[in-house]
Amino acid sequence: MQKYLIDERGYYGEFGGAYIPEILHQCVSDLEKAYRPIMESERFRADFDSLLRDYVGRPSPLYFSRQLSSRYGAKIYLKREDLNHTGAHKINNTIGQILIAREMGKTRIIAETGAGQHGVATATVCALMQMPCTVYMGKTDVARQQVNVKKMEMLGATVVPVTSGNMTLKDATNEAIRDWCSHPADTHYIIGSTIGPHPYPDMVARLQSVISKEIKVQLVEKEGRDYPDYLVACVGGGSNAAGTIYEYLDNEKVKIVLAEAGGKGVDSGESAATIHLGTAGVLHGCRTLLMQTEDGQITEPYSISAGLDYPGIGPIHAHLAKTKRAQVFAINDDEALRAAFELTRNDGIIPALESAHALAALQKVTFAPKEVVVLTLSGRGDKDLETYFRYEKEFV
Ligand SMILES: *Cc1c(COP(=O)(O)O)cnc(C)c1O
Repeated sequence: MQKYLIDERGYYGEFGGAYIPEILHQCVSDLEKAYRPIMESERFRADFDSLLRDYVGRPSPLYFSRQLSSRYGAKIYLKREDLNHTGAHKINNTIGQILIAREMGKTRIIAETGAGQHGVATATVCALMQMPCTVYMGKTDVARQQVNVKKMEMLGATVVPVTSGNMTLKDATNEAIRDWCSHPADTHYIIGSTIGPHPYPDMVARLQSVISKEIKVQLVEKEGRDYPDYLVACVGGGSNAAGTIYEYLDNEKVKIVLAEAGGKGVDSGESAATIHLGTAGVLHGCRTLLMQTEDGQITEPYSISAGLDYPGIGPIHAHLAKTKRAQVFAINDDEALRAAFELTRNDGIIPALESAHALAALQKVTFAPKEVVVLTLSGRGDKDLETYFRYEKEFV
């Protein structure tokens, strides 16, 4: 049988591992030794569960959409991560990691952010736990995401604009790693997705697996069995998708559909479809699929959705795609926009642009009647309103 979870060395098949500078070796190996015992401890479980319930608002509902179901001829449920505190699934991970950091005696938190969603989720839990927080953000992103920058500052975080490279997420991540190298003893780096050196992809997937644990319970109530025929999720780095599929990886009856960002088209030169376009390489501490030139320079990704605009992909998803456990579709900007406006008008839910990529993937699959589909709506659309207003005339 294929093995889809991490092995003892921190690999998913040929992807994963920990490619880190010598100076970080001690703190990454401390984290590797500590994360599972902490996550399995009674104190962590109690704190994590109660914060997810009372602070985040979990369990997030599993909503049956009549409109989507009649349109696609299957039973379509939306897993409502958009209803979480701070508006997306990212808070599940930041709460878990700050609890782990506290147990390890760390006193300072750093993070990278692209659009600012992970930065806000990190600044939020740092306010909650009264820990100082520094967020690295590309200067280009600082300029285009002013509301999130102001939110992080209001929450007490220091936002550092990064001026290297293209001044976006990849450069912010490099800068966060540089900070970590200078303060390895007291600082925990909260990575925002299933990326980075082992044990991050596994730790983040486990923290997000609350999504699939809840789906199991909710499907028993609604369908009388604990698994769907299909799971659908969007992938940037892959954390909401990993959380959605985690409990179902070994159940081959459950088909996995992933939506990555096609941008203006996979062959347009303006895309973030890493699984379609990527080749194996090492970035930000792990071996995975990367958008890169023949001599290994990272290609600048493009997507209308800032959360999917990353040149790499979580090693778990690279492995699921390679072994064909997951089917991966590249969804273009216009397909995502259309799906977002449809959900808004038909269900009264304005989704995040990232989540709209998952919605658009429904059109790429032919479902048999009565098949049960669970699609994770990773976040709400508040942060994307400006983009939506710009395109409203074209799509409504
Ligand atoms: C950040 C973000 C994503 C992409 O991140 P993953 O790690 O791939 O889940 C998707 N949806 C929303 C709403 C986000 O904020």
